[in-house]
Amino acid sequence: MTSTVRTRIAPSPTGFLHLGTARTALYSWAYARHYGGQFVLRVEDTDVSRSTQESVDQILAAMHWLGLDYDEGPIYQMQRLDRYRAVVAQMIEEGTAYRCYCTPEELDAMREAQRARGEKTRYDGRWRPEPGKVLPPLPAGVQPVVRFRNPPDGEVTWDDLVKGPITIGNREIDDLVIVRADGIPTYNFAVVVDDWDMRITHVFRGDEHVNNTPWQINIFNALKAPLPLFGHVPVILGDDGQKLSKRRGAVSVTAYEDNGYLPEAMLNYLARLGWSHGDEELFSREQLVQWFDGQHLSKSPAQWDAAKLAWVNGHYIKQADNARLAALVVTQLQRRGIVAEDGDRLQRMCALYKDRCATVVELADWLAMYFADVTPSAEDLTAHVTAAVRPALATLADRFATIEWTKPAIAAAFKETLTQHGLKMPQLAHAVRVLVCGRAQTPSIDAVLELFDRAEVQARLRAASENPL
Ligand code: GLU
Repeated sequence: MTSTVRTRIAPSPTGFLHLGTARTALYSWAYARHYGGQFVLRVEDTDVSRSTQESVDQILAAMHWLGLDYDEGPIYQMQRLDRYRAVVAQMIEEGTAYRCYCTPEELDAMREAQRARGEKTRYDGRWRPEPGKVLPPLPAGVQPVVRFRNPPDGEVTWDDLVKGPITIGNREIDDLVIVRADGIPTYNFAVVVDDWDMRITHVFRGDEHVNNTPWQINIFNALKAPLPLFGHVPVILGDDGQKLSKRRGAVSVTAYEDNGYLPEAMLNYLARLGWSHGDEELFSREQLVQWFDGQHLSKSPAQWDAAKLAWVNGHYIKQADNARLAALVVTQLQRRGIVAEDGDRLQRMCALYKDRCATVVELADWLAMYFADVTPSAEDLTAHVTAAVRPALATLADRFATIEWTKPAIAAAFKETLTQHGLKMPQLAHAVRVLVCGRAQTPSIDAVLELFDRAEVQARLRAASENPL
């Protein structure tokens, strides 16, 4: 019997969708799509005090933005408590789990004593039933936890899809709590019941979970459930070689959306970070699906490279449809309190500037001058708006009044003004750039001006010639 590939992503809604989780989601999604399988979204919300609806909404929005569509879900663990209870009851009945009545104080004392003896701290099995063993008398008023009865010896081995064979001895791990005193299951238990019920065949996740996997495999075995394959993806390191964290810059997918990155660029960059297909650096969603067969996942941590991401994003900005960019620019400008009308003119602006922008934020930085006043720097004014150029600015403004407002006519007006005042093009063009655009470097000045409102250009030029510094 061939089973359909079924993968999942199981974020905990305790914050934004982290880049690491997004990358794992991307791999799980691409793997399912490559093999014509299904991808499931499960929300692991059993940490009730830290899980929020706002976070769920943000995670779903980020998944949507990246185009990671799922075939089932979102499935919420907190809506499956009855199922976990039923499985636990069965395990207690079969002797693969048991109630433990240790109080937190007792557990502290246990660990303290172990530390004092120089031993590794672990649950000492005092409530673990054994043939012929007499358990302590039931204490009054203690709400028990449920522990998994982990095999006492032997080894757990799996052939990790990313890291290769991994073996951990059962002596290394103790009888883990699978249901807390408040009746809520813990991660390692709920994840197994879910992966089993949801018929997950391949589990991709961050390698911070490697140490959890032996417990999970033992629980699968105790439940006589078929084991999925596991692939643990190494962490993403920041530019400084430390684990990528909030303190070291943006770590949420949402932040990149806000900062003007395109979803296809994020998808491309994240996929390549920890996986390769030959020398390919730029590839589409379709190519990723076609190529992503679970091979060539890197065993070593990936290094976040902001400059490379900017390069990838710049590539997609250049390719992006101008109408799409215009809509994104409107939103970016709105955030700065600048109202820009979407339409043909804004699209032509995007076409003119997009080649020099790595992000939509940079594009908005350029286009703001068309919709809001500019403030040239004192240095630029002194350097470029000189006494020699000033009279020519007035002439140019006058000529602009009568011409047809097109690129060739603007270029011709410049030429005539230069001849009349005996100036060179860079002298006049730089002064105009500083006054109209607020900066000395721009694309070709006639192309830049054509997109301006004519009266606005004249006003900015006249302001300088009429108010000598
Ligand atoms: N909720 C877990 C996490 O976000 C899921 C781990 C797993 O995929 O098993 O890390």
